[in-house]
Amino acid sequence: MQNRKFKELVVPKKRFGQNFLKDNNVINNIIDSAHLTKDTLVIEIGPGLGAITRGLCMDAGFVLAYEIDYSIIPFLNENLNGFNNYKIINQDILKSNIIQDINDLDFKYKEIYVVANLPYYITTPIILNLLELNINIKKYIVMIQLEVADRICGKPKTKDYNNLSILIGYKAKATKLFNVNRTSFYPAPHVDSAVIELEVYENMPNKAINEKLFYSFIRHSFETRRKTLFNNLINYYDKELLDNIYTEFKLKPNIRAEELSIKDFVDITNYMENCGKITIYAHSKINLILEVFDEKDGYHMVNNLMIPITLYDKLEFEISDDIILEDNKIEDNIIIKAAKLILDDASIKTGVKIKLEKNIPVSAGLAGGSTDAAATLKGINILYNLNYSNEKLKELASKLGSDVPFFIDEKLAMCTNRGEIVNHIDIKVKPIRLLLIKPNSGLSTKEVYQNYKYEQIDHKQNVDLTIEALKNNDLNLLEENIFNDLTKPALSLNKELNLLYRKLNKIYNIHLSGSGPTMFIMNPKDKDIKKLKETYKDIFVYECYTK
Ligand code: SAM
Repeated sequence: MQNRKFKELVVPKKRFGQNFLKDNNVINNIIDSAHLTKDTLVIEIGPGLGAITRGLCMDAGFVLAYEIDYSIIPFLNENLNGFNNYKIINQDILKSNIIQDINDLDFKYKEIYVVANLPYYITTPIILNLLELNINIKKYIVMIQLEVADRICGKPKTKDYNNLSILIGYKAKATKLFNVNRTSFYPAPHVDSAVIELEVYENMPNKAINEKLFYSFIRHSFETRRKTLFNNLINYYDKELLDNIYTEFKLKPNIRAEELSIKDFVDITNYMENCGKITIYAHSKINLILEVFDEKDGYHMVNNLMIPITLYDKLEFEISDDIILEDNKIEDNIIIKAAKLILDDASIKTGVKIKLEKNIPVSAGLAGGSTDAAATLKGINILYNLNYSNEKLKELASKLGSDVPFFIDEKLAMCTNRGEIVNHIDIKVKPIRLLLIKPNSGLSTKEVYQNYKYEQIDHKQNVDLTIEALKNNDLNLLEENIFNDLTKPALSLNKELNLLYRKLNKIYNIHLSGSGPTMFIMNPKDKDIKKLKETYKDIFVYECYTK
């Protein structure tokens, strides 16, 4: 090894990250790990004085080496004396046209490997640039700083996992081969090192449709490590889109980027890419208070405290010539009415194709129809860039049904008059676990109201206490102050509900949602959920949360 001779002649340049390898064991280990053949073309970045280059020239077919420092090239050539299967390019690797340089070679290779002791100050851009190049580099054996090696090889949910693990792991399988002590270099760097292997996937296990979007989404996701994923992303993406992503991928609100796998990132960005269609998640609700007063102008007046829940229908909207609701089985559908209403209002002559994934049971007191109608107004508003305000959407919504305006904002609200006047209650309610139970037979809202007699209901409840309980997240107080004036008329109309309600009421605090027949238990225990799901296999028993 001639390095010793150069030691006196070459002053290592810090600005070029010049820490020359002097440990022959490490040098040999690097070369052996590469498993070179005479058909291999090796790209070396930063050959320096040729510590690795000599061995590479010995084992590989050809070595193409990029060295930025002009002043050490004479020493490098001297060290490679006797070899003619190499080419030194005196250029910054980050500014080189590698594809052109390879094409200029006469050498016919079977595979391209990168083998290098990299300049640490530019490790990441070198690797990422090479991975993005449109040439078939099969394998990388590179020495890098130990911490960076750990990050590249980091697995999700560990402290080492970050955007680099994902960006590199997306294209290649990363393995740490061995650690290298700082004493193996001249001069000794201030950090320890490791040699890693990157085996580039021939068939990538996860492929992003739009790689630019994938890369930028990852960069944004990890922008500030102590922030949640949402707080990082909200600076770059629409809240509506993020809400959809969180719902579609069932992400916890406080999830952090490091909890997502490469596949998750690919799936999310592929979902974003397919979003030429507008997707709206139409959430259901329960009523915490349903206070009903006497009829006025043919309508009952209400105090209706509603809270959205995580049970939802999914609606997809696409521009089309006519208004089409795919697989529509109901003729007089409120979704079609909503679509017609907003398209007419905006004087739009074309239509919309709507695909509905129905999860909310119908005629159930869960406002499945109303929330779908509101979602249709919101979906078409976005699809056609109408820029209608939520107030304007609520105005249209009130023409479709008393409950519909609430679903424009989907926020805790006291809805008054017929239910169409939405008064938001601006308090943060921690998600409350719920178990919904619905007998098989339905109930008509109209009939339940017709069956309601103000004087037959015990009106002792206190609305203020219910809101106070919500404000303080006091679930015991809330439990005592949930009430629904339609319980009695609903029970008297539906035998199946009546029986089930009485049975459950002996063991649990059971409440009716809306005009029924869906009931809910608040804050149920795991064992109760399990037991009730087993006992009532044939009816709708569904665990969810307030939203
Ligand atoms: N391979 C040699 C060894 O193991 O002894 C030298 C490794 S030293 C850590 C990094 C080498 O990369 C130096 O020779 C340095 O001049 C070179 N270098 C630094 N920045 C570079 C760049 N942008 N393009 C090409 N070479 C660079």
